[in-house]
Amino acid sequence: MDTQTAQFFDLDARDATRLRVLQCIRAAGEISRTDIAKALDSSPATVTSACGALLEAGLIREVDATRSGSVQRGRPRVMLQINGTAHVIAGVKVARRAILVMMVDFRGDEIGTHVWPLAESCMAPDVLVKEVRRAVEEACDALDVARGTVAGVALGLPGFMHGETGFMHWSSSVTERNVDFGPLFREHLPCPAFLDNDANLVAKAEHLFGAGRGLCNFLVVTIEHGVGMGIVLDGELYRGERGCGAEFGHVKVQFEGAVCQCGQRGCLEAYVGEYALIRDSSVGRQSDAHKSLRDILEAARAGDALSHEVLERASEILGVALASLVNLFDPEHIVLARSRPQFDDQYTQAMLSALERNTVQVDAPLPGITVRNLDETMWAQGAAAHGIERVSILKIREMGVSDVA
Ligand SMILES: [Zn+2]
Repeated sequence: MDTQTAQFFDLDARDATRLRVLQCIRAAGEISRTDIAKALDSSPATVTSACGALLEAGLIREVDATRSGSVQRGRPRVMLQINGTAHVIAGVKVARRAILVMMVDFRGDEIGTHVWPLAESCMAPDVLVKEVRRAVEEACDALDVARGTVAGVALGLPGFMHGETGFMHWSSSVTERNVDFGPLFREHLPCPAFLDNDANLVAKAEHLFGAGRGLCNFLVVTIEHGVGMGIVLDGELYRGERGCGAEFGHVKVQFEGAVCQCGQRGCLEAYVGEYALIRDSSVGRQSDAHKSLRDILEAARAGDALSHEVLERASEILGVALASLVNLFDPEHIVLARSRPQFDDQYTQAMLSALERNTVQVDAPLPGITVRNLDETMWAQGAAAHGIERVSILKIREMGVSDVA
């Protein structure tokens, strides 16, 4: 976040410094004022003043490092850490059959998660907003969190949307196109509400807690029903000019190819998304032969040739598409996160081999690739991280306003 975010939210120099100090404390876990000044290349007086304001607002707290034993002698060293009890934030992921809510404290520590089942996978915008509100309220009750204490709700949705403005060009969860979803969402929730493309939020979670920790340039590709991507460049999420970039699932892999859920033909996800695998492995069978990825994997293991071919072909197509990402971005790392169940190793190998064969050949090793199962909670964790970031900005702005008054 940082410069871009501070600019977008129009923070003045003093608030931007407070935000940087808060982020520095968050990243460090526990840090002294002197070390913050060093890390931010800032004067001790500026840091002391910013810390004073953050302490007064209750966003951080002081701890005596001598007590924890990290300092053996000399003057007691006062360390600063995020005050977990300052705020509760709800991270929300809308999936096809359920809404998953993860409640975290201001440090990001999980209070608990709650699943709210959905009757429909695609809804009118106002219906979806009401479902999200209901899911958050139910989560509060189930996890024993007072509804009024939730300081922010952050929502992750599949589709093309602008994370900053909340404008939704298209989402597979919503029946209408071009919806000004941000204002609608904020109107219906009793606390500040934020949204972003769900793959961006997984990238955020990987950056903060996962394989992207400490990296500046990396990509996260998510595969479940559809295919998504989050791009982190120079340490920041890259969204594109209209907020609908990084749509890796809709790069074309075949002229006049299979119909994609976006309405166009030949998109990558129309070949490797779950719905594509179910469609392709059901050709010539009764319509309900394969209902899930699990059915296809099990059929292939039991010797079904079509299921095996479909999985192998999809793995190769995915490998070729990933090679294009390496050729375009030359990232430090790619995280490939796919929904459960786990793919058999032979398909992962087929994908990696296609990736290697189609990458521009230079005498340098390929970027690191992490293939992992996408735990449902990762989406919600990313949404919660987004919520913490946004609530931090709001609280710092509120501090500025009360100073003036
Ligand atoms: Zn498409």
